[in-house]
Amino acid sequence: MRTILIILLMHMTGLFSPQADKYESIRLRMVKTQIQDRGISNIAVLNAMRKVPRHLFVPGEYEDEAYNDYPLPIGYGQTISQPYIVAYMTDVLKPGSKMKALEIGTGSGYQAAVLAEIVDKVYTIEIVPELVKESTERLKKLGYNNIICKYGDGYRGWPEYAPFDLIIVTAAAVKIPEPLIDQLAENGRLVIPIGAPSAVQELQMVTKKKGKTETKRLTYVRFVPFKRL
Ligand code: SAH
Repeated sequence: MRTILIILLMHMTGLFSPQADKYESIRLRMVKTQIQDRGISNIAVLNAMRKVPRHLFVPGEYEDEAYNDYPLPIGYGQTISQPYIVAYMTDVLKPGSKMKALEIGTGSGYQAAVLAEIVDKVYTIEIVPELVKESTERLKKLGYNNIICKYGDGYRGWPEYAPFDLIIVTAAAVKIPEPLIDQLAENGRLVIPIGAPSAVQELQMVTKKKGKTETKRLTYVRFVPFKRL
């Protein structure tokens, strides 16, 4: 009797399957209705979104809203993007398992975690020191040892680890930072919201082929501003 009770308790607390948590069914529904039904079909992206526990990336008071169809505040005037935008930006990057990615704007670390489920290594830079500390601790606790996070102005990129196959900027800039284009690998892809901070911005994608870059406009988005130190 006691053994049965213990086994039952272990099941309920998720000790038999580390991925299971009380939000799992909500998360799977989020992926179906907000992401798959809106046209994203890349299996790696869908699986990453199914796996990363988004509720652990938002402040406690927003935990039960973590899987809703909108961005949420993460403190210091910053936000974690709407789930669909995270999936969309990850999808257009066409991430592959052997790739090296650079993210500018770590924020909560959620986008970095989604990428880290797919690619080999993620380098991420954040300009708010408190967020660097919080997300570094969070990602470590969740076992993401293929993410390296540092404090700094992402405008300059991370030359020590360049070139990057993928670069994702999650804050809105008025212009594409030149160092990021320089640090993009041959056949690499960069996505960045471009436009005035308080307005709707244009998500742009830069690709590099034979050393030449090409810029394409993707869609309209709204991001917090890209800051400079
Ligand atoms: N990707 C994040 C959301 C980021 S919000 C997530 O998944 O939660 C945008 C972030 O970009 C903010 O945390 C902001 O502080 C940061 N940021 C703005 N300008 C920056 C810069 N120049 N370098 C690095 N980070 C910057």
